[in-house]
Amino acid sequence: MARYIGPVCRLCRREAMKLFLKGERCYTEKCAIEKRNFPPGQHGKTRKAKLAGYGLQLREKQKVKRIYGVLEDQFRGYFEEAERTRGITGVTLLQLLERRLDNVVYRLGLATSRPQARQLVRHGHFMVNGKKVDIPSYAVKEGDVITVLGRMQKNPTIEHAMEEVKGRGVPEWLSFDANSITGRVNSMPTREQINLPVQEQLIVELYSK
Ligand code: SF4
Repeated sequence: MARYIGPVCRLCRREAMKLFLKGERCYTEKCAIEKRNFPPGQHGKTRKAKLAGYGLQLREKQKVKRIYGVLEDQFRGYFEEAERTRGITGVTLLQLLERRLDNVVYRLGLATSRPQARQLVRHGHFMVNGKKVDIPSYAVKEGDVITVLGRMQKNPTIEHAMEEVKGRGVPEWLSFDANSITGRVNSMPTREQINLPVQEQLIVELYSK
């Protein structure tokens, strides 16, 4: 599946918020949002865009896509699945994205960022219910158990990530045992547990035009 490979701090600056795409750097003063919190480009500093209607809806969609590292076609697929599912479409959309295996690996603290989690999953470092899964978009279900492949348990990247994000905590819908490096999906995430400052209703409005 294709992915964005351009400069990622640019994406944060475009959305005027931290999207946490670079791991540790995002928590330091080197973060571009700390140093240059204005849109990228030649006129970024001077352009004062007042967003309303379509512009607002578009930015909200871009923000969510960029947080989860999903491109347009795949994002549209998630939206269509959310529409077909019973419940509030915007919340279901976020739940579907949150259940992605790369996001779960990140949330469990086994990677410092979602892009790093995606790469670790791609390289086949994780198992779900004892079976190797190397598909970042794999959707976890309630009761699933996520473990690190035996030979990868001493992987320096994973060890470093666990050390780095120790204090970050794991959302309530997941649990993590650091001794056995095992994560469990306790339940499906609720909107409150998906701690993202986004207005998902705006995305629904955008796609409903
Ligand atoms: Fe975004 Fe992280 Fe870059 Fe800061 S350091 S701008 S949060 S990707």
